[in-house]
Amino acid sequence: MDSGSVGSAKDLANLQHEVGALAKRQSDLEDVVLEIMERLETGQARVSEMTARRDDAQHSLAEAESRRDAAQAEIDAEAEKVTRERAAIAAVIPADLLKLYTRLRDTQGGTGAARLYQRRCEGCRVEFATADLRTIRAAAPDEVVRCENCSRILIRTSDSGL
Ligand SMILES: [Zn+2]
Repeated sequence: MDSGSVGSAKDLANLQHEVGALAKRQSDLEDVVLEIMERLETGQARVSEMTARRDDAQHSLAEAESRRDAAQAEIDAEAEKVTRERAAIAAVIPADLLKLYTRLRDTQGGTGAARLYQRRCEGCRVEFATADLRTIRAAAPDEVVRCENCSRILIRTSDSGL
């Protein structure tokens, strides 16, 4: 256009129109590029935030798993110790008494023997009448005394209230 090589005024007008349209198109495309870049930045910020949250969650999970494993190891060690102690005690208990205890434990919700504490069976919480306490008091120290109510073996102590 500047060199005057375009022949007709009509061609020149067409060319000017085309240049105007292209400039408008370029401006529109630049706006689109800007909008896309803004969306990209927003998306990248969101990715960073979510990545940080995921890392935090993974860290928390690892800590919780570590605590769980430590607790499990403690429980396993305790269970092993208790099992050993029980075996040692069971070995010196007369077989018929152990059999009775085991049967009661299995039928009485896991507790085959209960402490007699202040005139009360700690297995079923029943308080004994004076006559029952008299019978229990009269029993020999090595006699197996049982609760009239729940049948559990009663463990007599100095706090039994006898
Ligand atoms: Zn009882």
